[in-house]
Amino acid sequence: EEGMNAQDLGKILHREPAEIVKKLFMLGVMTNQNQSLDKDTIELLAAEYGIESEEKVHEDISDIDNLYTKEMEASKESKNQVKRPPVVTIMGHVDHGKTTLLDRLRHTNVSEHEAGGITQSIGAYQVRLDDRLITFLDTPGHAAFSNMRARGAEITDIVVLVVAADDGVMPQTIEAIDHAKSAQVPIIVAVNKIDKPGANPDHVMEQLMKYGLVPEDWGGDTIFVKISAKTGENVDDLLQMILLQADVMELQADPQQKAIGTVVEARLDKGRGPVADLLVQQGTLKIGDPIVIGDTYGRVRVMTNDKGRRVKKATPSTPVEITGLNDVPSSADKLVVFDDEKTARSVGEQRAKNALEKQRENVQHVTLDNLFDTM
Ligand code: GDP
Ligand code: MG
Repeated sequence: EEGMNAQDLGKILHREPAEIVKKLFMLGVMTNQNQSLDKDTIELLAAEYGIESEEKVHEDISDIDNLYTKEMEASKESKNQVKRPPVVTIMGHVDHGKTTLLDRLRHTNVSEHEAGGITQSIGAYQVRLDDRLITFLDTPGHAAFSNMRARGAEITDIVVLVVAADDGVMPQTIEAIDHAKSAQVPIIVAVNKIDKPGANPDHVMEQLMKYGLVPEDWGGDTIFVKISAKTGENVDDLLQMILLQADVMELQADPQQKAIGTVVEARLDKGRGPVADLLVQQGTLKIGDPIVIGDTYGRVRVMTNDKGRRVKKATPSTPVEITGLNDVPSSADKLVVFDDEKTARSVGEQRAKNALEKQRENVQHVTLDNLFDTM
């Protein structure tokens, strides 16, 4: 049986055959492009290109998506489930008032003792109403929502669809409805700008019937709230309705299991290193927890809440900013917690290496085994 030669290997590794020959020469193996190579030589070369013959040690535990899903499933069976705050995304047509609403919410319903009411920008924040919390994702718009979903992150429980009462249903209104529907996320309609002279909320409600959003008063099951994000009128009613919808959905989580979460935003801070804003979804994240996020790893060093306060732990639906990672993760990356730092580190390193390999060679992951399979 003819073994593989430098040309064959070049193809598999996406390298020029001449480079393979040169590499082998550096390793002390004299060959030409056509000469067939023995197993030891191929193994030597493979190692040189970062392909290991041992089956990856952390095959299963480096599958973060799988670990995340397992914890998510486990929570559904758990007897320790408790109510958790709903996670809300605000969507709607440009200029209909998404940012104004988010700003208003950010500055109201924040109790006095919470850092003077100043909410930090950490990708999400919580609003309190009658001792209950609601988590708002801070990036309105459809791109953020789609990006999260495209990466398999479904962190939004409820969509608040903002429609300006003086403008009515517009293209991005319809787009938002489509997004929410395909994600099977319930919509609450906030008919905004009711303070404006030209406001016609009833017209908006009529228009939306075409898209299956029918108010309860008219025999449907969609919650509509007429608000002014500018004056604050009925904004508390909107919060009340979000909580009502959350109750109907029976949103729960188990704060006792291992924490899982999703990155909302991440960046490199000059002084503090990699910083990730994330939403804890199940379990309780604690200072010191060994973690892997996407292709990064570390220990939770400093954890800060949306009020700029340092916290020692974060329960489900809580947004926090953390430091302590070796690198900057991406938004929508998943977080899982490991028992010890050593494991987290090797899993993280393994994942980073895999990602780099994929990126560099732009080939499907090649193992030595499937190298040999082709022999
Ligand atoms: P976004 O593009 O959806 O984020 O819309 P913005 O929040 O930036 O609002 C667009 C414009 O509408 C701004 O000039 C706001 O001040 C104004 N606006 C937003 N909400 C209201 C409202 O309830 N009443 C009035 N009169 N103006 C509003
Ligand atoms: Mg805006």
